[in-house]
Amino acid sequence: MPDHHIIDAHTHVFPSELGQDPCAWAAARNEPHWAELVAPAGQAGIQDWADPQDMLNAMDAHSIQRAILLGWYWENEDTCRWHNQTIAQWVAHAPDRFIGFASILPNKNTRDQLEAAHDLGLRGVGELHIGIQNFHAESAAWRTLADWCTDHHWPVNLHVTEAAGHTHPGSHAATPLQAFVRLAQSAPELKLILAHWGGGLPFFEANPRISKILRNVYYDSAASPLLYKPEIFRRVADLVGHEKILFGSDYPLRLYPAIQKRAGYSQFLQDIDQHSGLNQNEQQALLGGNLRKLLGES
Ligand SMILES: [Zn+2]
Repeated sequence: MPDHHIIDAHTHVFPSELGQDPCAWAAARNEPHWAELVAPAGQAGIQDWADPQDMLNAMDAHSIQRAILLGWYWENEDTCRWHNQTIAQWVAHAPDRFIGFASILPNKNTRDQLEAAHDLGLRGVGELHIGIQNFHAESAAWRTLADWCTDHHWPVNLHVTEAAGHTHPGSHAATPLQAFVRLAQSAPELKLILAHWGGGLPFFEANPRISKILRNVYYDSAASPLLYKPEIFRRVADLVGHEKILFGSDYPLRLYPAIQKRAGYSQFLQDIDQHSGLNQNEQQALLGGNLRKLLGES
């Protein structure tokens, strides 16, 4: 596969039931955080929805060869397992385009959840949320998950809320940065992908003790246009090295709600090309090269 093919490291697949009446669905399944994000009281939502063909069309329009389909940080194991079936169906629909990651709730059944996801053909874990799903570096369930994923070369994608920022749906669910340092320290060989530029953690990689602990930590750009100016790409690359940054969109989130009615890639890729401050080599690393290495493909 030529080097310039793009891989999106952070997209979401949602079972179609989720979008029809998010509040009723969330109430029935006891998933309150979901309702708050997707149907925030008094605000227009920015979530869009896609079926496999919509997503493949969006990818084809911009030479995006493959995408990691992430699950979600559900509050119930049953919801995770149910969601993983949908992810596996999407992967079966286009196995050379989609890479499935599993929804997992770190709990006493973690190993069984991971093995079930493995049997479905999934290849990683995420997106997890330490606050919503209530785990930390010393949790027995994290230990199980980290060991299993290290042994199976499965990366783990973790949601990180920006450590300082404006108020938006989801922003109250704090994810203290030090908790991620501890997670990395607890599993030095595990490949961690911290979403949304790691919520600001790259700044602390300027401390050589921290950068050593975080050597297997990567940062994705999911939802970046909703939070930061495009110069953030250059800034993070300067802090952590361009080898540790991954292009992720958060598709099918609408990244430019003021100008974009449906989810898509054109404005984001144009901003990266023209305003990220990354040169062509760095852009190739960001857009796929780094992830290919992380997945053990090159
Ligand atoms: Zn996230």
